[in-house]
Amino acid sequence: MFEKLSERLGGVLDKLTKRGQLSEADVDEALREVRVALLEADAALPVVKDFITAVRAEAVGEKVTKSVTPGQMVIKIVHDELVKVLKAQGNEAPGLDLTHTPPVPILMLGLQGSGKTTSTAKISRRFAEKQGKKVLMASLDTRRPAAQQQLAILGEQTGIKTLPIIPGEPPVAIAKRAMNTGRLEGYDIVMLDTAGRLAIDDELMAELAEVRDAVKPHESLLVADAMTGQDAVNTAKHFQDKIGITGIMLTRIDGDARGGAALSMRAVTGKPIKLLGTGEKLDAIEDFHADRVAGRILGMGDIVSLVERAMEATEQEEAEKLALKMQKGQFDLNDLAQQMKQLQKMGGIGGIIGMLPGIGKMQKQLEGKVDEKVVKRSLAIISAMTPKERRVPDIIKASRKTRIAKGAGVQVQDVNKLLKQHQEMARMMKQVSKMGQKGLMRHGMA
Ligand code: GDP
Repeated sequence: MFEKLSERLGGVLDKLTKRGQLSEADVDEALREVRVALLEADAALPVVKDFITAVRAEAVGEKVTKSVTPGQMVIKIVHDELVKVLKAQGNEAPGLDLTHTPPVPILMLGLQGSGKTTSTAKISRRFAEKQGKKVLMASLDTRRPAAQQQLAILGEQTGIKTLPIIPGEPPVAIAKRAMNTGRLEGYDIVMLDTAGRLAIDDELMAELAEVRDAVKPHESLLVADAMTGQDAVNTAKHFQDKIGITGIMLTRIDGDARGGAALSMRAVTGKPIKLLGTGEKLDAIEDFHADRVAGRILGMGDIVSLVERAMEATEQEEAEKLALKMQKGQFDLNDLAQQMKQLQKMGGIGGIIGMLPGIGKMQKQLEGKVDEKVVKRSLAIISAMTPKERRVPDIIKASRKTRIAKGAGVQVQDVNKLLKQHQEMARMMKQVSKMGQKGLMRHGMA
C-alpha cells in the first residue's frame, strides 16, 4: 500500500544513505524532495508545510550519532515525525472504543460509494468473530433505493442480524428502533449505517445531526475512500465540523492508494485513522498502526519491528546451538524445519521481505518467486519422516520416499527436491565453516 509515496521517498533517501557526509544543504535538499513527494501523494499543502517545518525543527540541533549514517538520521527524524502525526494520541482509542453500556451505538458516516455499507458489515463481522460480540446492523439510508436491502444481504452473508425493514420509516425513527431492539434483545453493539450522498449537502448534514442527537453515538466513524485524495480530506473536514467524528476508516488502500490522504486527514480533522479497508471481501479489514504505515510510507520498512519480532522468535540458545552445528557441518533436517518455522513466526517470507528497506521496488520483482506454499510443503515432508531420517537423511531409500510423499500428501519428486536442497545447504554451510571464525570475519560474513 501507499506505494507511490514510498517509492518516491525511497529514492530520495537512497541518495542520502549513499553519501558519507550530510551537509545542511543536503538536509534542505532532502526536505524539498520530501515535500514534493508528499504533495504528489496528495497530502494537503498546509499539512505538508507544517510537517516539513516540524521535521526541520527536529533536525536542527540534532547531532548525528556516531553509529548511524547522516542519511539514517534524517530517515529516523522524518519517520518519527510521521508516526507522531499519524498516531492516536492522549485519550484517543487506537481502535474502536467499546467502553460504554451496551448496546454501544456506532454511527457510520461518509459519502456514497466510499465503502460505508461494506465497512459496516466488515466491522460487525470482526466484532462478532474475534470478540464474540452480538451485533445488530441497521441501515438508515432511506434515500438510495435498495440501500437497506444491500445491508440485509450483507447481514445474511456474514450471519449478522439486521433490523427488519419498515418501508417509509424515517432515518431517526429507524435509529431509535435499532437502539430499542438492541436494548431489549441484549445486543452488545448497534451499527448504524447512515445515508450517503455523492457530495455533501445541507439536508444530509441536518439529517445526520438529528440522528446523532437521537442516539448519542459512542463512536462516529467516517468512512473515506483513500483513492479520492484531496476530496476525501475536504469531506473529512466537513463531517468533523458539522457532525463531529471520533475516527476514520480509510478504504480502498488495496488500490493505487495515496499515503498523503492518511497524513492530511489526520492533520486536518485532528482525529485518528482507526481502521483500513483492504479489499472488497468482508474480511479485508485491518487495524491502523501508525508506525507500520509510516514505515511503509517512507519505504524504509519497519526495521524496528523486524528486529523485535526476530528476537521474540529466536531463542538465543537455539541460535548458538545452530551456529555450533553449522560449524561442525551437522545441519540436519530438524534444523532446516526449525529455520522454516522461525520464518513463519516472523510473518513468513513475504512478511519479512515487506519489512526490509527499499523494498517497494524489489517486492514486485520477488512476487511469484518466493512461495509460502513451498515452506508449508517442506515442513509437511519433514514431519512425515522418522526422527532418525531427519537426523541422517542419507538413509532414506526409494520405498521410504514414496511413503513420506504419501504421508505428506505430495509427489515423490517434491521429497527429492527437498532432500537435494538440504544437501546443498549442508554442503555450503560446511564450506563456510571450514573458513573458520576468523575467515568469516575477514570476509565480512560474521
Ligand atoms: P457506500 O455507498 O459508501 O455504502 O459504499 P459500498 O459499501 O456500497 O461500497 C462501494 C463499492 O466499494 C463496493 O463495490 C465495495 O465492494 C467496494 N469497496 C468497499 N470497501 C473497499 C475496499 O476497502 N477496497 C476495495 N477494493 N473495494 C471496496
